[in-house]
Amino acid sequence: MKHILNKTAAQIREEARQRREALERQRRELEELEQEASTEELILDAFERNYQLLTAESGNRLAPEVKEMALKQVLMYWRKMRDVATSVTQTEVKLSLPNIKKSDGATFTIEGVVDIVRDNDRTILYDIKTHDYHQVHTNKPMYQKQLNVYAHIWQTLRGEGLNETCIICTSFPEELKEAIQQDNAVMIDRELERWNPLVDIPFDQAAVEDTIDEFREVVEKIENGVFAPPPQEKLKMPAHGATGPMFVTHVCRNCDARFGCDAYRSYAQKTKFRTRDDVFYALDTVDDYGSEGEQLARRNAEAVQGLNLLDAGTT
Ligand code: SF4
Repeated sequence: MKHILNKTAAQIREEARQRREALERQRRELEELEQEASTEELILDAFERNYQLLTAESGNRLAPEVKEMALKQVLMYWRKMRDVATSVTQTEVKLSLPNIKKSDGATFTIEGVVDIVRDNDRTILYDIKTHDYHQVHTNKPMYQKQLNVYAHIWQTLRGEGLNETCIICTSFPEELKEAIQQDNAVMIDRELERWNPLVDIPFDQAAVEDTIDEFREVVEKIENGVFAPPPQEKLKMPAHGATGPMFVTHVCRNCDARFGCDAYRSYAQKTKFRTRDDVFYALDTVDDYGSEGEQLARRNAEAVQGLNLLDAGTT
């Protein structure tokens, strides 16, 4: 009471205003927390639905720890990329560059899918890659070629403005994977803080024609059957440049042809299990004879055996 008695009406009014502002801030924070909780519940539900769908389609199930790790990756990715994710104005925009002529006169089309953010008169084109930041950052010219073509389609064919092109790298950096594997909370927090999934890619209109020429050359080689799997030694070498992930980790494990590729099969069959990832990647090479149920049983048996060997330190 004394407190009030010592104040002027103007001071009391000002304090009431400040209290209302503080309450408003708290209300907004609570709303944000509520929104975040519901988004994460949505992600959990969507993840489970997708998992059930993929399992029904493929007949393959993930080991519980792999499934849990995949879910955590999605959630951590969401928390890290929330600002970008919530500002995306167009998702999965299909960009198409048709009627590119090959040397025999036939034509082909380059297509890509990107996300677009329009924010206060700025437009940013995002391409999502399942690669990690270091790999994209150290091989920018390679990624730049593809982004250049998308930017060219967006600006020239669609006539839309563009201010930036950027790659979002969804893969955890090695340091974060290591921290998770060690289950070290301090390291995980530190590496999550350091993790930067965004790589700016400069746009260079002058390089577009060269890139289209390279696409043309690759298409012609594929159609003429010129490509052959590289020798097995190449699989152990860095995918790009002198350092970085091995070709087999970076390229082969994402390659749809790996089940029929002798170089990959013989590499994977000789691989010693060093990490839990290795165990499950090596399962890709389980022979695909028998019914789906029999293949699944063989994969599970090999997974258990691989994990036991790993836990026992005998690999
Ligand atoms: S798995 Fe695919 S990328 Fe790897 S060597 Fe075989 S064909 Fe090439």
